[in-house]
Amino acid sequence: MQKYETLRRVFGFDAFRPGQEEIVDSVTQGQNTLAIMPTGGGKSLCYQLPALCRGGVTVVVSPLIALMRDQVRGLTQQGVVAGALTSANTPEENDAIWRALSDGQMKLLYLAPERLAAGATVQMLERVGVGLIAVDEAHCVSQWGHDFRPDYLRIGALRRALDVPLAAFTATADPETQLEIVEKLFGGHAPATFLRGFDRPNIHLAFAAKDGPRQQILRFASARKGQSGIVYCGTRAKTEVLAQALREAGIPACHYHGGMEPNLRRETEERFQQEDGLIVVATIAFGMGIDKPDIRWVAHADLPKSIEGYYQEIGRAGRDGAPAETLTLFGADDIRYRRAQIDEGAAPDDRKAADHARLNALLGLAEAQTCRRHGLLTYFGEAPPPPCQNCDLCDAPPALFDATTPVRMALSAIARTAQSFGAGHIIDILTGNATDKLRERGHDALPTFGVGNGWSRPQWQGMFRQMMGLDLLRPDSARHGALYLTEAARPVLKGEQPVTLRSDALKVAKSAPTVRA
Ligand code: ADP
Ligand code: ZN
Repeated sequence: MQKYETLRRVFGFDAFRPGQEEIVDSVTQGQNTLAIMPTGGGKSLCYQLPALCRGGVTVVVSPLIALMRDQVRGLTQQGVVAGALTSANTPEENDAIWRALSDGQMKLLYLAPERLAAGATVQMLERVGVGLIAVDEAHCVSQWGHDFRPDYLRIGALRRALDVPLAAFTATADPETQLEIVEKLFGGHAPATFLRGFDRPNIHLAFAAKDGPRQQILRFASARKGQSGIVYCGTRAKTEVLAQALREAGIPACHYHGGMEPNLRRETEERFQQEDGLIVVATIAFGMGIDKPDIRWVAHADLPKSIEGYYQEIGRAGRDGAPAETLTLFGADDIRYRRAQIDEGAAPDDRKAADHARLNALLGLAEAQTCRRHGLLTYFGEAPPPPCQNCDLCDAPPALFDATTPVRMALSAIARTAQSFGAGHIIDILTGNATDKLRERGHDALPTFGVGNGWSRPQWQGMFRQMMGLDLLRPDSARHGALYLTEAARPVLKGEQPVTLRSDALKVAKSAPTVRA
């Protein structure tokens, strides 16, 4: 078979990686194709190999000039005629490219999206026999994404003008982005869609409720002294404080965030790349350009903002395939903070609803009762494997208890107080703690007053956190975190559906996560 021969001879690979071959076949056969693969999964081969098997030139639209140049250099070394049309080209480079194109020599032409704005580019492409369009980082077409590139919206017109198949590639798996890609790039006609390779079996997954979070991170890092790791924090200030605490504990650590001088940032990146055993305590600004295969662990000192963010951040660990570890801390404060961030953002309502759903998916994972990898891969749409034996819940399945009764008590107390109070006040009602605020409002006369005094305050706090994780309750940031019931709470409140919680809610230790009113 020509494809195996080309795979070996041109690219030097013995075999396809999981998912690659089906995508290569679909693209080679000229089907419109959408391939969703994680970063590092080997997307480029999925259009480069078909480009060599098909006639004509393949136009590759890519947003990153540096990456285009790297690829052209690599292909040229492998004996493939390739070029890149970017704003950084000299006139001589452009001439050479157009010559190779009109000679019919060129196999792959990389194109920066802004080139599509010039009508001349499209006219020339119409003349040189394009056989395929490949779009890298296809999520850049999404107006709601962080990487929106307006020029990507011109790709649809290019496809119509050239009337050739299109193959789109992205690592962004959420359904809204997929829909937008189908609409904007494929004119609404569903392409052959492949979603593969999201499992990173060498990465151990673990979550823990915050319980003295600084000590939790220090313990995790000290136990892995000498290994390179990243600690992600929710705020810039925290990166500095935590890096300092690590250094005081004798662990080499730097902080990193978007507010630092570019020079200092670059220095930190280089140190991390070169030194063994350095820890970078960072905001999510850290990671984009980092290509270090032997990062042995990633910890989250705060809950990430969505399940996609979580996946991307932990995915920086263990690129070399050797075992790597993760730990993600979360507390009720995080949940409130992330909800508020969404609610107070500028996005339209339907987008906010989607962001809440992404956060819910992560909270569901945090409060999971069975295999985390199963939950994660199910979210990404992959057929999940049996229990993975490489996550904290597979290591030690959590004890569960039937929490239907206390959960109904809590939901009922919230409903009877017009969904207008925070967790602290509701717990006062449940435990019969007659504060002034409570008496003023007559809440000591409620039938739910004191019905929950069989559980301690920290136990209730643990149960509230799990209830938020199950999305039975949400804090309304527009009303000072007043808790309200979601649709999912109704059948529970009515007694139609039981609820199980993890027993660890009941043995909340020393400093329980604070659930403030
Ligand atoms: P991305 O999906 O992030 O674009 P790349 O296409 O850059 O990923 O591929 C990531 C790495 O995997 C590259 O170093 C590439 O050489 C390597 N790779 C891709 N396909 C294979 C394969 N079939 N066998 C071995 N290595 C591969
Ligand atoms: Zn598991």
